[in-house]
Amino acid sequence: MELVIENIVIYGTVALLCIVVVWIYLRKQIRETKSTEAKIELAKQDGLFEPVSLHPVIDVNSCIKTGACISACPEKDILGIKNGKATTINASHCVGHGACFHACPTQAITLCIGTEKRGVELPHVNQNFETNVPGIFIAGELGGMGLIKNAVEQGKQAVENIVKSLKKNHGAGFDLVIVGAGPAGISAALTAKKHKLNFLILEQDTLGGTVFTFPRSKIVMTSAMDLPLYGKVKLFETSKSELLELWNKVLQQNSISIQENTKVETILADKAQFRVVTLNGEELTTASVLLAIGRRGTPRKLNIPGETLEKVAYRLLEPEQISGKHILVVGGGDSAIESALLLAEQNKVILSYRSDVFGRIKPKNSEKINEAIAKGLVDVRFKNNILSVGNDEIVMKSEVSGETVSEKNDLVYIFAGGELPTPFLQKAGIQITKKFGEAILKH
Ligand SMILES: Cc1cc2nc3c(=O)[nH]c(=O)nc-3n(C[C@H](O)[C@H](O)[C@H](O)COP(=O)(O)OP(=O)(O)OC[C@H]3O[C@@H](n4cnc5c(N)ncnc54)[C@H](O)[C@@H]3O)c2cc1C
Ligand code: SF4
Repeated sequence: MELVIENIVIYGTVALLCIVVVWIYLRKQIRETKSTEAKIELAKQDGLFEPVSLHPVIDVNSCIKTGACISACPEKDILGIKNGKATTINASHCVGHGACFHACPTQAITLCIGTEKRGVELPHVNQNFETNVPGIFIAGELGGMGLIKNAVEQGKQAVENIVKSLKKNHGAGFDLVIVGAGPAGISAALTAKKHKLNFLILEQDTLGGTVFTFPRSKIVMTSAMDLPLYGKVKLFETSKSELLELWNKVLQQNSISIQENTKVETILADKAQFRVVTLNGEELTTASVLLAIGRRGTPRKLNIPGETLEKVAYRLLEPEQISGKHILVVGGGDSAIESALLLAEQNKVILSYRSDVFGRIKPKNSEKINEAIAKGLVDVRFKNNILSVGNDEIVMKSEVSGETVSEKNDLVYIFAGGELPTPFLQKAGIQITKKFGEAILKH
């Protein structure tokens, strides 16, 4: 009898322990799922749930919920756990590090571009990075592969291939024109210098490409890379300023100057050479072209007098450094509203929009801007057009009252959307295909 009681106690305790463990596990899973579902809901509201380019795709049959992908991802809340399986949350914030891909012990992650619903347009390039237009090459993110390291490697390889195919006595003004001075363009310029090419590098903005737009505090994740004319760069977790400093130093050491503020408008094939036409009206001839223009496009301009003044910008870098200024923000989308709200904390801000109501903005932004209007923190002017920008003022006209007014002004930020690179590529004759979820990195 005693033995029976003892057995009951032992087995009962074990069973109870098992139940407690399972209960704790299930409770944790339910909590995780609820938290992930709430984040997904928010991501859907904010338009961040659907991936826009590269993103991880999880094979739920292979996923065993180690969470290794979540810990490995240097960006925040791109992945989460739902019902015991990994799932994407803010998929549109994925930048394609592939850290999740490498971290998953069961190889349940594939890195894809585009989705069944939303295709991503990619230009055709062969293994030499040459497009269907002989003489026009593509390197970096424009070709579909993100990341600084990949851009640097592709910029180098593309120029190595250009060197091999370059005809002597081609008769053009340059051997090579590189368009874009992000990581791919910089690496391409260094390789061109190494091979003593007669080349030029044109950049619509400033050196650094997308890296230049990173916040100062962002930790830039990268792997060891081979920078032409410099050697191995062993930076793993670095900063925007460290990278820009390095690129500036190497370019200076090799006497390479980048022609900044020069947007390339068109590339025309002209017999065995190309005519490259810039927005400033400059026209060059070259035997080959390397497009290292990334995928972010070109900000749309207002084309008004004074827009070329230095105080006019198309992106907001480090708003916390700006205080006590009179600022004009132009636009009615999320970027304009978020920038106006950030700047209004320490400045006097006018937000000018040509329509009479904010269109498709995130619900959270709509709430915040209405609150700011009610509190008089942002001076919002609907149906308003900017006529000109002066050194200390802006002139604008209200479509409601018909009045033209001049306002004190120190800085102007324009968020009028952007032109994606596709029409520019098509004009140059480059074929584009839409990718609907094609695997870029798979096991
Ligand atoms: C938020 C965010 C975080 C990221 N974090 C990381 C990270 O931690 N680590 C990492 O490795 N990668 C990261 N990336 C990705 C990385 O920034 C890009 O993959 C990389 O910059 C691509 O380099 P690129 O040279 O191909 O293009 P870009 O860097 O985009 O440069 C293209 C350049 O071409 C110029 N250009 C475009 N059109 C024209 C034209 N018509 N005429 C003249 N110039 C033109 C642009 O002004 C730009 O300067 C991140 C990206 C984002 C958006
Ligand atoms: S690819 Fe990179 S950014 Fe995207 S989820 Fe994986 S680790 Fe995060």
